[in-house]
Amino acid sequence: MRGVMLNKPGDVQVVDRPDPVIVEPTDAIIKIAATCVCGSDLWPYRGDDPADHIPMGHEYVGTVTAIGDAVKNVAVGDFVVGSFFASDNTCEICQTGYQSRCVHAHIMGEIGTQAEYARIPLADGTLVATPGQPDPVLIPSLLAASDVLGTGWFAAVAAEAGPGKTVVVVGDGAVGLLGVLAAKQLGAERIIAVSRHPDRQKLALEFGATDIVEERGDDGVAKIKELTGGLGAHSVIEAVGTQESMMQAIRSTRPGGHVGYVGVSHDVDLPGLELFFSGIHLHGGPAPVRRFLPELIDLIWNRTIDPGKVFDLTLPLEEAAEGYKAMDERRATKVLLTV
Ligand SMILES: [Zn+2]
Repeated sequence: MRGVMLNKPGDVQVVDRPDPVIVEPTDAIIKIAATCVCGSDLWPYRGDDPADHIPMGHEYVGTVTAIGDAVKNVAVGDFVVGSFFASDNTCEICQTGYQSRCVHAHIMGEIGTQAEYARIPLADGTLVATPGQPDPVLIPSLLAASDVLGTGWFAAVAAEAGPGKTVVVVGDGAVGLLGVLAAKQLGAERIIAVSRHPDRQKLALEFGATDIVEERGDDGVAKIKELTGGLGAHSVIEAVGTQESMMQAIRSTRPGGHVGYVGVSHDVDLPGLELFFSGIHLHGGPAPVRRFLPELIDLIWNRTIDPGKVFDLTLPLEEAAEGYKAMDERRATKVLLTV
């Protein structure tokens, strides 16, 4: 099969890779219908994470082509959505809704789903079948559920977005934009999106943002304080992962408020004394997307939400290198790869 390989930072190539086979009785093999390039794929692409001939990709939807002897919940022919962590969905951690930290978790990025096929470990716990074969127009949205929507949704839940709340979203990548959609869906009263890019501002407004703040860092904090009567927001979503974005999120939150942080933390160092006196809740980490998948699939299937709008560039898998380049240069928010 064909699959994406990151040979070294900046060097993406589509190569022949061995067809995956069932290894454990709990595995399934899926034929991928669509996959995509994640903002977090840019960390190794830019050399901020190590990269030496690694298969890429952790977002996927597709059709089950084979199952191991122990698999009961999905069958050959099912169209399925999974998340970027495979999880058993039965251990104590999964049972409390933290499937991304399952005691048996596998990172799908190590398998590399930017490919024609993928082996999915712990298929019963990981995969959720759609109610039937999807209308092709729903595939981008179902694919978004596998990571960026599920992650934005978790961030909004962790930030306790809801009725009567003012929510700030720091980060205008796909996760931040879908955090706006999630906050809206959860009933937030006011949603302030932090973005400098006109096209992303437009999508944020479409997804339910009520205000746009262009300033970053402490200028952004001052602007948000100004918009919230000097108090700061009840709920803040952090969807970048840098020192500046994390501090902007923390400082934009009112005492007693909640930060939901889902940007993969890179060299973030939190000042203890400031945190102590802030009186805020911090909750985040790798999103347990599996917790939300049944609900998200339902909302997409009923056409209540259209998160697939975040994909603004679609390319064939063979042109993955251009997809990475477009995202790196911020010419694209989110790239869908057809398989
Ligand atoms: Zn588990």
